[in-house]
Amino acid sequence: MVKAVTLDQREFVYRLSLSLARSKIDELDGSIHGLIAELGDRLGADRAYLIMFEEASQTISITHEACRKGAPPQQEAIQNVPMARFPWLMDQLQILSILVIPEVEELPSDAEEEKLEFRRESIRSLVLVGLKLEGQVSGILGFDFLDQSCVLDRETEEFLLQVGEVLGASVHRQILASRNVRFENSLYRYSDQFPGVIFQFRMYPDGQTTFPFISNRVEDMFGLAADVLSKDARPLLDLIEDTDKASFFKKVDESRRRMTPFETDFRARKCDGARAWIEARSVPARLADESMTWHGYFFDVTDRKQSESEIEKLAFYDPLTGLPNRRLLRDRLAQALTGSTRDHDHGALVFIDLDHFKNINDSAGHLTGDELLIQVGERLRQTVRAWDTVARLGGDEFVLILKGFPTDTANAAARVEKVCEKVRDALNEPYDLNGIEYAGTPSIGVTLFYDHTTTLEELLSQADMAMFRAKEDGRNCIRFYDSMMQKKVSERLAMESDLRSAIRKDQLAVHYQVLVDEKGNPVGAEALLRWQCPGRGMVSPAEFIPLAEETGLIESIGYWVLEKVLSRIASWKNRGDALSELQVSVNVSARQFHLPSFCSTVMALLRKTGASPRNLKVEITESALAYDLELVEETLRTLRSMGIRISLDDFGTGYSSLGYLKRLSLDELKIDQGFVRDILDDPNDAAIAETILALASALKLSAVAEGVETKGQLERLVSMGCTRFQGYYFSRPLPALEFEKLIEKASGERKRRAW
Ligand code: C2E
Ligand code: MG
Ligand code: MG
Repeated sequence: MVKAVTLDQREFVYRLSLSLARSKIDELDGSIHGLIAELGDRLGADRAYLIMFEEASQTISITHEACRKGAPPQQEAIQNVPMARFPWLMDQLQILSILVIPEVEELPSDAEEEKLEFRRESIRSLVLVGLKLEGQVSGILGFDFLDQSCVLDRETEEFLLQVGEVLGASVHRQILASRNVRFENSLYRYSDQFPGVIFQFRMYPDGQTTFPFISNRVEDMFGLAADVLSKDARPLLDLIEDTDKASFFKKVDESRRRMTPFETDFRARKCDGARAWIEARSVPARLADESMTWHGYFFDVTDRKQSESEIEKLAFYDPLTGLPNRRLLRDRLAQALTGSTRDHDHGALVFIDLDHFKNINDSAGHLTGDELLIQVGERLRQTVRAWDTVARLGGDEFVLILKGFPTDTANAAARVEKVCEKVRDALNEPYDLNGIEYAGTPSIGVTLFYDHTTTLEELLSQADMAMFRAKEDGRNCIRFYDSMMQKKVSERLAMESDLRSAIRKDQLAVHYQVLVDEKGNPVGAEALLRWQCPGRGMVSPAEFIPLAEETGLIESIGYWVLEKVLSRIASWKNRGDALSELQVSVNVSARQFHLPSFCSTVMALLRKTGASPRNLKVEITESALAYDLELVEETLRTLRSMGIRISLDDFGTGYSSLGYLKRLSLDELKIDQGFVRDILDDPNDAAIAETILALASALKLSAVAEGVETKGQLERLVSMGCTRFQGYYFSRPLPALEFEKLIEKASGERKRRAW
């Protein structure tokens, strides 16, 4: 019987084939089955089937089968059947694309084995179409006829060949997909057992990134779905901590350029918000379109990192309080000593011992004692600055390394003392030790360090000795190793607190010392500050001005002096006598002079008091010039433009530099009293005084000799060409009212003065 498939049938099958080609992979099985059944139906076959060859094992298996009612299925029987059982058939299919066997019984003699096989299955006739995958016959579309003989017309044959091609392509697709699925499945299976995340990461030439494959654990680890990441890798990359991002991408780039494995550890935020350490390892490959892929894994190594840092902690930290131990203290001290040498500043080693710690430990138990130590550690940590070190030596002994104190030892000591007081106050606060209220005190010993030469052991023993002094002196106090330093620190601290209240208590006063010309006429005055302190008597400005400078008090004191002096000048203004002509010098300290608001403050005070700037002279010392010279120049220019005169005090004792003398707008040099004192006896001093006078005249500045006490000194200075004088020989600094009387008297006596 010649089988022919009519045109409409053909169209129908074409459409089926088309739908086959368009089927998604997971629908393909069904479509193939449908197509086969349909074809078998049209051909009137008893069985229609698809056989696939397994190249590796040289076996064949039926993958799809559709049987007519009553025809026994063979799919189960024909699984992994060796190809060798069909030698003739296999040969024929290599040559012919379609094999039509009208009568099995008429097969040639070299098809004896096939004949036996077919006969056993009661097959009378067959149509077999070879399916080519990648140019190789790797499957058969077959039709069995059990009791009729089949012959195809040419058109149907042609048609079946075309169907075979479509089917071949579809099957090929399915095989590839199933291979992928199998691969992916095994990867998934494997990856689900793997305690990390397995991935393929892809980076396109335009910088876009995806994870074409990433195992499901990514969801547990980062709370991100694999299929989201398969389209865009950024949600995961965004979880990398900012601090580690740059190095992560730098490593990616390195791996891309050098084609070396990508290996890094980074920190990321997990889905539960916790931070994790992630180890990433992967191998790069370059694709044809210049994309890059990396295959590898992410692994959560937080535990490992933690135990690494635990180990470090055990070695360098005290397990109870978590503070650095003696070992780390030594390191930190070495760093501090280096830093101190480099920055020319002081550091301090502070030894803290808790008073009567043994009592609480013995009476309330070790756990309570431990709790106290923990809380003490915490308070210490909170009291000092971030760059200081708090360590525990053991027992109830704690050590602090404090850094960054001034070069000047006394000043540094005073500041260290302040920090220690804060520490003591913090430790004096009551403790709640698991319900037990406790009030404890510390004894604190301090030693300062400045250079490299002292060792930790030396410093510790110094601080330890100081701490014992603190215990001896009644506990809960602070003692310095050096007793001189101790004394200075205490005195300064007391004086500072007195000074703070001096302005408030009206203990400060301004005295005036007259300045005269070579004829003895008063031409000016210097305003000199006086401190009448009840407990101390008259305190010399030489003593308290440096302290005021260090503590910053000078700013308010300086303001007070200026205001006082300008008010006084203003009160003299309209008298029309000698006083209204005087130029009054005010000493301005470097710190005050460098305040950005200095000029505007002076201007405001001039306005407020009504004093004339012509009556004001500002005295600065050379130390005020050892600063940003341009700023100094500007300040001086502003002051002079206001009509104020500038005098350089104590000239010759500081950094005297001809350079700035030329550059700065000054009016006057004051020869320091140190050169005047011995001017008659010491040729050097005389020479210096003479040089300063020459210099002043060369620079067209006036010169004042300070500290003139005798007639001899005066005459000598006059002979050297000096025209302005100040000193006890003429008058001591006097309270304002006395000074006024002095001037009135002096100007009344026209010729020879009282002096
Ligand atoms: P200075 O500016 O060099 O003041 C001159 C010092 O010499 C004054 O000391 C004055 O009393 C003293 N003196 C004057 N004539 C003689 C003399 O014939 N023999 C001796 N032996 N000494 C004489 P004083 O008042 O103790 O002031 C000391 C320093 O304190 C001043 O030195 C000045 O630098 C500073 N000072 C005083 N008042 C102020 C102020 O209001 N502000 C600032 N920043 N510093 C001030
Ligand atoms: Mg002065
Ligand atoms: Mg002076």
